[in-house]
Amino acid sequence: MQQQQLHAPGTSTACAVTTADANAMAPSCPASKPVAMPPASSAAQPSHFQRNTASPDSVCTVPLHSSPPTLNNRLTVALDLDETLVHCRLAGDSTKQQAMSRALEQSEFRLETSEEQLVHVNLRPGLKKFLREASVRFNLHAFTASEHFYARPLLRVLDASKKFFKSCHWRSDCLAVDGGHFVKDLCTLPGETNLERTVLVDNNPISFLPQPRNGIPIVSYYDDPGDSALSILMDYLCKLEPLADVRPRLHQTFQIEPALEQYKRMRTAGAPSS
Ligand SMILES: [Mg+2]
Repeated sequence: MQQQQLHAPGTSTACAVTTADANAMAPSCPASKPVAMPPASSAAQPSHFQRNTASPDSVCTVPLHSSPPTLNNRLTVALDLDETLVHCRLAGDSTKQQAMSRALEQSEFRLETSEEQLVHVNLRPGLKKFLREASVRFNLHAFTASEHFYARPLLRVLDASKKFFKSCHWRSDCLAVDGGHFVKDLCTLPGETNLERTVLVDNNPISFLPQPRNGIPIVSYYDDPGDSALSILMDYLCKLEPLADVRPRLHQTFQIEPALEQYKRMRTAGAPSS
């Protein structure tokens, strides 16, 4: 999405800060730490999840489920929308962008506003397959910091048959924190949230603030037709599936918590975030 144009007022701020904050954290984070997001050009590389190479999965020793997950104890996966599953832009953008997007799997919808603006959606490569397979295996929820008047019609495009997402959450379900950021508290998901078996996939590391050990960072998607992040994500989720508590594995892999702590110290000290 051309964030300046399309995201609901305020959303563009959150997203713009995402990149700036991630980059701001990068210089002071140890090389093996994960939160500093790589550039979009590296999206097709397996390292886009920022795995901690010093702590490969093979050395993780967390207990497994004694039996295969059932409907009652399936992994709960909350998915961000913009730049995680899709990239949207208003119709009428430049010819160059339209030409570039013709190579992508696209859809479109109209915003439910007085202007009824037409929105083009670039679907992240493999999105339909991912949602189809993941919704069978996991409890999927949509969790965006965008306003509902934008997110709701977008979700109708993504989940027209209403089979994929068990619930949808937008700006009003997020927590507003210092600096105008909107963060996502997984405890707002419906039912009794079992944080041991819940993850949030998001391109914005600030979203993970309430539960940093439940976060799976993913590189931002815009229009790369060679992007393979969702395929890699699916493989990773399947590896998490048998774990009784996914948090030690996520912490070991992504080290989000210490990076966010460092970010908070920088903010408290008044250091510029970008
Ligand atoms: Mg996002």
